[in-house]
Amino acid sequence: MTIRAVHHLNCATMCPVAGFLLGSGTWSEVGFGRGHMVAHCVLVETERDGLVLIDTGLGMDDIDGRTGLSASFKRLVGPTLDPAETALAQIQALGYSVADVRHLVITHLDLDHAGGMPDFPNAKVHLHSREHAAAMTRTHYKERERYLKAHWAHGPKWEVYTESGDTWRGLPAVTRLRGLDADIGLLPMHGHTRGHSAVIVDAGPHWLVHAGDAYFHHRSIEGGSVPFGFAAFERATQMDSAARRASVAALRQLRTSYEDIKLFCAHDPHEYGRFL
Ligand SMILES: [Zn+2]
Repeated sequence: MTIRAVHHLNCATMCPVAGFLLGSGTWSEVGFGRGHMVAHCVLVETERDGLVLIDTGLGMDDIDGRTGLSASFKRLVGPTLDPAETALAQIQALGYSVADVRHLVITHLDLDHAGGMPDFPNAKVHLHSREHAAAMTRTHYKERERYLKAHWAHGPKWEVYTESGDTWRGLPAVTRLRGLDADIGLLPMHGHTRGHSAVIVDAGPHWLVHAGDAYFHHRSIEGGSVPFGFAAFERATQMDSAARRASVAALRQLRTSYEDIKLFCAHDPHEYGRFL
């Protein structure tokens, strides 16, 4: 057993406008009130390789205004920008130091997933090569908004991967990350961004599948109607519609085919609550 413990952390509460469109209540309950989203990150304590942080939420530099979070992002998405919610603060509260975090595994480099990277400047950053390339070049207008160069201005130790014939549960996967003994891997789930990937973790009796922003609401996977606001947001932010729909279909199939999988996305507070 190479994994000692797993912690689920919310590293950025966000309160977007029009909560009733996001299933945060009915119109009569919330009116024009704001919704509620989390930035679900996972901290893994390993036997051999220190701490592994999966996604990083927003970081201290975002809160201090040093990364250029736009006024429109703050107004529409409503991040609370609470220093106590950063991964750094929560990891220190567990009794660890910055140096203990040796690996970051990132679903994608959107600002609400990469914001905490500068807080762990010496950690290796593992991600899909297509995501790395997309964020470094920012050729599309959506990419110039979603990726903030300040999040990698410290020069991270990138570890990038492409599929090489490896599979996990029948899906293309990267099951060995360089320098990591624990069973933590990347499961490419492109579409939301060009190189978006889920992260898989063998957590003993079950596998965790952190699906990042492959979907935004549990009913996308479990069935039932997805709140209109999320369905619209998924389409507005996607880079590849067909790939995104294929990713959701693959995740649905995983969930129904295997009982030993715990699947969750980054922003659904309902799914996050299941782990508390
Ligand atoms: Zn996100």
